[in-house]
Amino acid sequence: MQTNFSLAQLADSDTAESEKILRKCVHCGFCTATCPTFVLLGDELDSPRGRIYLIKEMLEQAKPATATVVKHIDRCLSCLSCMTTCPSGVNYMHLVDHGRRHIEATWRRPWADRWLRQLLAVVLPRPQLFRAMLLLAALARPLGPLLPARLRAMLAMAPVLPAARSPVDRPQVFPAIGARRRRVALLSGCVQTALLPSINEATIRLLTRHGVEVVVAEGSGCCGALTHHLGKEAPALASARANIAAWLAEAEGEGLDAILVNASGCGTQLKDYGFLLRDDPAWAAKAARVAGLSRDITEFMAELGLARPVAGSGLTVAYHSACSMQHGQQIKTPPKTLLAAAGFVVRDVPEGHLCCGSAGTYNLLQPEIAARLRDRKLANIATVAPDLVAAGNIGCITQLASGSSLPILHTVELLDWATGGPLPPILRDARFARASG
Ligand code: SF4
Ligand code: SF4
Repeated sequence: MQTNFSLAQLADSDTAESEKILRKCVHCGFCTATCPTFVLLGDELDSPRGRIYLIKEMLEQAKPATATVVKHIDRCLSCLSCMTTCPSGVNYMHLVDHGRRHIEATWRRPWADRWLRQLLAVVLPRPQLFRAMLLLAALARPLGPLLPARLRAMLAMAPVLPAARSPVDRPQVFPAIGARRRRVALLSGCVQTALLPSINEATIRLLTRHGVEVVVAEGSGCCGALTHHLGKEAPALASARANIAAWLAEAEGEGLDAILVNASGCGTQLKDYGFLLRDDPAWAAKAARVAGLSRDITEFMAELGLARPVAGSGLTVAYHSACSMQHGQQIKTPPKTLLAAAGFVVRDVPEGHLCCGSAGTYNLLQPEIAARLRDRKLANIATVAPDLVAAGNIGCITQLASGSSLPILHTVELLDWATGGPLPPILRDARFARASG
């Protein structure tokens, strides 16, 4: 694609990067077929190619964002399905991130939108505050039908009561059981610790049982993805720097073989730290080092090897591959290989490349499109008649669970159970309890 930036514009690092990305696009349109919003809405401006044109025009003209640009960029899930499909290697992720930052800097949203986005940016990365909000949501539940669509969507996603803080989500070291084979840091995260603390608990049991020492490092916290996708760069980079400092202190102390992540949305963010901080001389090299150490828990376990299964054998698991897992990190087989090695019968979900509608805060900001994608995903899951659904991202788990009575679990909860851990809390009914024997 031809571009028309001035030399002065190209002196800006973000613009120079976006220009390189734009020049790779050959307008072929292959990406439109696998874009969830184009599949649903059928509008070229809701396709990757259409959005690329909108961003190009906005950046080239160095003008404030327009209502049209904001509408169609806001509707993008950042699912990155287009990046998997693109034959020319267009890095849509970095381009749309730049577009979002430009919108944030130049477009004044209606006050309700501004208020909601600010609320999400402040509350979600802070587990204590998020728990308090979940409690308020539980109290407000009876008012649900009277509230506007976005607040109704938030209430629908909230659990009946927030989970208590797990003792594992504090800075500490979990020694390996038996001889120590590896030493890792675990990103304990933010939203996940308040919604499903059982995921970190299962992760730590699974790792220590396999001879891995696990550190929850003092000073580590939210990865920054939630604020990053809202176009709020300063808090996103502050989160990245805090994590990098915390993990490098561990790496330079007792050493780290990896930094593990059990929420693939966060994993995609960590692996991009090097790019995000590339222009900061004090942090660029450190960020690249942390990005290089970052692994999804299933990548790590697939290399380490799984102990012989003792429970769960024979249950049919529909594996839902989160977009951040399959498109953001291109991790496709390890979770399924591990589940099969643990004795489960693993089924792929038809249209598996399409997003479930979760996409960070998307299901809260675009509830109608998100609900259509969720229902489509659940209908596809139903065709494989599973006993359970496994996914590697808290957002997908919450999104799918909001419309289904099937047990939706994190992959590590199943791997932990199968190799000697307790029955996952969601499976505590007679049928699954029998399988644990
Ligand atoms: S990130 Fe997803 S929703 Fe956005 S343009 Fe690409 S495929 Fe479409
Ligand atoms: S598939 Fe790639 S090259 Fe083709 S239009 Fe989409 S982004 Fe451009």
